Amino acid sequence: MNKIIVVDFGGQYTQLIARRVREAHVYCEIVPFDAAMDRLTSEDVRGYILAGGPNSVNDPGVPMCDPALLDLGKPVLGICYGAQLMAKLLGGIVDKPETGEYGGVDVVYDERCALFAGLNPNSTVWMSHNDAIVKMPQGFVSAAHTPHCPIAAMAREDQQLYALQFHPEVQHTKLGFDILKKFLYDICHCAEEWIIGDLAGGMIASLKAEIGDRRVLSALSGGVDSAVASVLVHKAIGDNLTCIFVDHGMLRKNEAERVLQVYRDEFGMNLIFVDAKERFLSKLKGVTDPEEKRKIIGTEFIRVFEEEAAKIGSPEILVQGTIYPDVIESGVGHANTIKSHHNVGGLPENMAFTKIVEPLRGLFKDEVRALGVALGIPASQVWRQPFPGPGLAVRILGEITPYKLKIVQDSDAILREEIAAAGLERDIWQYFTVLPNVRSVGVMGDGRTYDELVAIRAVTSSDAMTVDFARIPYEILAKISSRIIAEVDHVNRVVYDVTSKPPGTIEWE
Ligand code: GLN
Repeated sequence: MNKIIVVDFGGQYTQLIARRVREAHVYCEIVPFDAAMDRLTSEDVRGYILAGGPNSVNDPGVPMCDPALLDLGKPVLGICYGAQLMAKLLGGIVDKPETGEYGGVDVVYDERCALFAGLNPNSTVWMSHNDAIVKMPQGFVSAAHTPHCPIAAMAREDQQLYALQFHPEVQHTKLGFDILKKFLYDICHCAEEWIIGDLAGGMIASLKAEIGDRRVLSALSGGVDSAVASVLVHKAIGDNLTCIFVDHGMLRKNEAERVLQVYRDEFGMNLIFVDAKERFLSKLKGVTDPEEKRKIIGTEFIRVFEEEAAKIGSPEILVQGTIYPDVIESGVGHANTIKSHHNVGGLPENMAFTKIVEPLRGLFKDEVRALGVALGIPASQVWRQPFPGPGLAVRILGEITPYKLKIVQDSDAILREEIAAAGLERDIWQYFTVLPNVRSVGVMGDGRTYDELVAIRAVTSSDAMTVDFARIPYEILAKISSRIIAEVDHVNRVVYDVTSKPPGTIEWE
């Protein structure tokens, strides 16, 4: 299959570039800037994208790629830092102009350049730079300009070298996706081969070959990644896959039943359902410290998982829902260069698996969802909100008791129903209720009450790194609030959390 290599220099949009390339149905991989040349030069590579980065190319010791990359006779597209780097490596000059550009700016494209051919030459682009190319290397011409940036794009078409000062990958660059597609299709001559729905068959066949007749274990949490990974493996090896689902009692209302119904009844998967509610609750009795709660749940989860695995003779292979962002190496000294995936409640690290199977290692989250849909997993599961391993335990402040669990489960179910009824499910990243362990005075049916307060948390985000509180219309909030108070025993007050992240977090504990 054709592929594009996206070279990472630590920029915030590197993954977004890769996702856009794949949205254009072209396979791509992200590699760190210092990867050895032989990793970058296989025959199926059709072109390179040098991504953005926070550094200034003129500073000492900043990330650079091997200049030989620009001399392979294959197309290269530099974006922002990548553009500046291309200029510098080929003998141009990058400097700090009097004004940088940040945000949307008007641009004029030169239609003679293959990147912009046939596009409306007057458009807007998204800029975010302090530095700029002030003198182009030999043989390059400017191919776009903005009021403050005479070289908003440059090209040397006889060598298939292109550079953009702006960010074509972000939505604010109006024709950005068209420009990327021109690079992929017209300049790199990539075919549209990366089509998720078509991949399932091949993935299942290679899992079959990889696993053979060995037995595989999966910790099914109901989360999208573990579910899609397990369904794939199930399709490959059938009953040789055993899924263990641990109900620790801190799941959402009807969630355990729904998981059983989908994966055991509809998909016919071999699923062991462990009702460990009592066990977890008794371990958590009297515990109020958030970290302590998380630790107990994590440890207990592993114990239950191990016990169940032992009962069926400890299968030797574990399937995990690791996805591409978990394994991308950045090479730029991020805190975790290679982050290992942690399944719900933590992984049974000391279990003796001879092999870990990670069928989704190469996929972005949106691709995992598309694959889930292609495999026939219901939308309610594929679009399931992110849900923390310790579940509702981190939404009940203080000690966890059956009384509090019921309040959170019931109020959360009402919230979810109303958000769905309002058609807001996919606009809001995550939404749930919290029981902060606060009681206040109220009046219900002419009588004084002194009862529980429930908080609603709902946030919008694209990556969970930064979030804003969702602007749910007041009428919908009003309906949610009155339903919770009317239908959930012991609640007499509902509040809305209007904190962004930072400084807040999504979950309360
Ligand atoms: N740090 C470089 C600049 O400020 C590149 C920025 C970027 O890649 N977004 O110009």
